[in-house]
Amino acid sequence: MLTIENLNKTFDGNHVLKDINLTFQPGETTVILGPSGSGKSTLLRSIDLLETPDSGTITIGDDKLTFPQKIAFSQLKKYRGHFSIVFQAYNLFPHFTVIQNVMEGPTQVKKVSKEQARTQAEGLLKQVGLSDKAKDRPSQLSGGQMQRVAIARALAMEPEFMLYDEPTSALDPELAQEVLLVIKKLAETGNGQIVVTHHVEFARKVADRIVFLEDGEITFDGDTQSFFTSDNPRIQRYLQQLL
Ligand code: ADP
Ligand code: MG
Repeated sequence: MLTIENLNKTFDGNHVLKDINLTFQPGETTVILGPSGSGKSTLLRSIDLLETPDSGTITIGDDKLTFPQKIAFSQLKKYRGHFSIVFQAYNLFPHFTVIQNVMEGPTQVKKVSKEQARTQAEGLLKQVGLSDKAKDRPSQLSGGQMQRVAIARALAMEPEFMLYDEPTSALDPELAQEVLLVIKKLAETGNGQIVVTHHVEFARKVADRIVFLEDGEITFDGDTQSFFTSDNPRIQRYLQQLL
């Protein structure tokens, strides 16, 4: 379980996350929705400690961080092992093949044997529908395929939670759908996932739970059906503008 308590983040006097309290259960898919600039990326980045919160506590397993806190590198490395983050842009290693991209983390960071990493990578590429692309270079792939490699690479680290920050926003609709389908399949197989997206139809179908962020505050946190039937005018306006 991942617990966030009273988390605050300010950029140059701009209070971006305001006393955030959230709990994420293992195996659940949560979709974070909210207008642009509401703090969704900052929240995901704070969970992965790509941003350092000003105050608050994050607890996962036996790791408990209370900010402000100086974090030793070994502690940061252990903490980060709970998460893998997938961004809008794929950031694959261009000079590696697809399968080498997926094997890189386990062999370099986790010191897994090459043989074991290859077997795992083959399984993951199958899971994201790219078994036939294992030996290709990223430049030979479509944007949707690259993003699916990025997901396989993130899964290879065996995180408790996959974090996705608008993973389809750089893709045209058809390619976006193939990436969303992979995330949907992962949800069905019980991966813990926290997904920032504007695809409300995806959220409706896949999310166990919706968190709605507005101006750095959580104004909805509950089950998916309640979100889509909410009579909160701000939520209704947000949904109408996207449909
Ligand atoms: P969202 O992902 O919901 O669009 P962000 O978390 O990216 O929102 O941004 C929330 C607010 O924080 C915005 O006002 C943005 O300008 C500001 N912000 C985000 N990252 C930084 C940064 N590194 N430095 C300064 N301001 C930032
Ligand atoms: Mg963002």
